[in-house]
Amino acid sequence: MRVIIRETKRAFGRTRIPNAKYVLNPYIGCLHGCKYCYVQSLAKRFGWRYGEWGSWVIVRKNIYRLVKRKSLNGWILVSSLGDAYQPIERKFKLTRCVFDAIDHNNRLRILTKSDLIVRDLDVLGKFKSVEIGLTVNSFDERLRRKLEPEAVSMERRLNALRTAKDKGFRTFGFVSPVIPYLTDVEAVLSELKGLVDYMILEVLNPCVEDFVKWLKESYPESWNVLRDRWKFESFIRDLKDSVKGLASVYYHPQQL
Ligand code: SF4
Repeated sequence: MRVIIRETKRAFGRTRIPNAKYVLNPYIGCLHGCKYCYVQSLAKRFGWRYGEWGSWVIVRKNIYRLVKRKSLNGWILVSSLGDAYQPIERKFKLTRCVFDAIDHNNRLRILTKSDLIVRDLDVLGKFKSVEIGLTVNSFDERLRRKLEPEAVSMERRLNALRTAKDKGFRTFGFVSPVIPYLTDVEAVLSELKGLVDYMILEVLNPCVEDFVKWLKESYPESWNVLRDRWKFESFIRDLKDSVKGLASVYYHPQQL
């Protein structure tokens, strides 16, 4: 594992990610090491060559000073370039420092794969508007360990949502990645029932070469849907129909 400690000049970035105007990343890179993670392709593009994906993280050590009493007009997504609650946060508490320092009138939307977020519900409770989201999918534990090696189990993520909901937070489930023939959408939606205020489904962004190679070899029928425009359109139509009124569906425009 390589931990790179850096000063940063800018805390916030503008984004075109749906439902957010700004992004805030205490960390860049992610020790959860998800095999399908789109940030890997950004890392290549931006020249962040610190080793295999999942083996390095940049800690933006002064970021909590830059956000001090800052108030922005628009939803802030935490985070987009590495999970703000990845394992190292347990020791560094950088995300917690950021939430302590920033103006609590900001609107925060937090998306994570870790139940460590429960530790910070006390400070998150000080915000006027905050939404807590956990990424969930229907991978069985064996597959999950292969694809999301350092992230916590699905059960722990669902428990984190339950705890946040019980404490009165607005919560959401981020069902991602949705992969044809691999994701049991019905099962995930039923697990999330009662735990979240809304759900978002995101279809796999096939931008990571190694992952695409694995998918082609292991689940050729899934890949056939993703690579064929007509099949993909039909898959999206069916998906939207099946979740109508229950969840929004996102996919990446370059797929069509
Ligand atoms: S938790 Fe998110 S940012 Fe981290 S590796 Fe997985 S998909 Fe990427």
